[in-house]
Amino acid sequence: MDRRRFLQSGAALAALTAAEFAPWQNMSALAKEVDDFVMGPPIKDHPLQQITKHVWMIYSPDGFPTPENQGMMCNLTFVNTSKGLVVVDSGASVQIGEMAIRQLKKAFKKPVIAIINTHFHGDHWLGNDAFEAAYKGLPIYAHPGTIHEIKTMQGNLWRRLMEQWTNQATLGTRVVPPNMPLEHGAELKFGDVTLRIHHYGPAHTQSDICVEVVEDKLTCIGDIAMDRRIANMDDGSYVGTFKTYDLLEKNAASSLWLPGHGKASDYVLKWNRELFEGIYRPCEQAVKDGMALEEAKQVVLKDPRVASRAKDTKGFDVNIGKYVSIAYLEAEAAGF
Ligand SMILES: [Zn+2]
Repeated sequence: MDRRRFLQSGAALAALTAAEFAPWQNMSALAKEVDDFVMGPPIKDHPLQQITKHVWMIYSPDGFPTPENQGMMCNLTFVNTSKGLVVVDSGASVQIGEMAIRQLKKAFKKPVIAIINTHFHGDHWLGNDAFEAAYKGLPIYAHPGTIHEIKTMQGNLWRRLMEQWTNQATLGTRVVPPNMPLEHGAELKFGDVTLRIHHYGPAHTQSDICVEVVEDKLTCIGDIAMDRRIANMDDGSYVGTFKTYDLLEKNAASSLWLPGHGKASDYVLKWNRELFEGIYRPCEQAVKDGMALEEAKQVVLKDPRVASRAKDTKGFDVNIGKYVSIAYLEAEAAGF
């Protein structure tokens, strides 16, 4: 049976009813089976758009996952090489990956030949499932730290979180971890296109990579910087992010930075650097002066670099308190 139809057919309901009477040992096996069969609904088409000669993207207008957007919250990027298409970040679900494949088949007469995942947050790799099913044996590249995180705790954690946030719209998505490690300085050649990998230690996570499309002077930066959206810094480092910006600007000969969230521009790093400086530097000073966290928060909110961005930054009100706490703890740990 088509696994998509399973839910609608009533067979899933029958299985669940049977589960009520099954001994508990059998229930977990059954739950797993139902889990494997039940699929969330397909996601509507989002258009492909061309950014530079070789780089295309499916833009995500929303910054956070909801039942309405079915997890469509992260840009998907495609590099059109003479050998085939390379995907940079595959989206937050199998449904999003399948939608992307529909768009690619309409626009190109060539296969997907590789995926690169920039980091382990699920909105950037849960779509691997769809590509792996459509293009068997696909190499999926990521930093070794990202591969480790997805294979251990973060893989299933993100799959479950995405199901919760979208009210089960992403159900049916399997964890397909990257299978090819990529270190800083690696160069991947795909016909007429060279992809150069950058990693400068902890930034948004411990193991982010940025993908420089050398011929196009464009770098995919994952989540190390965002365009008018506050980044999740739970796994990150402010100081590490500043260092990464400095080295990336020095070493990646790019005039366009393409983030996972928001639009590509020449000012994404600058925009995000100023916001983060406005959060981190007052915290650093507060720790030096023995000021409490709550007071530090007030100083941050008044900082012009933060205040000026508050209004048009997605997720600002909900997240700023938490991100000040993270900055304050990082400054404290740095020993001021
Ligand atoms: Zn992220």
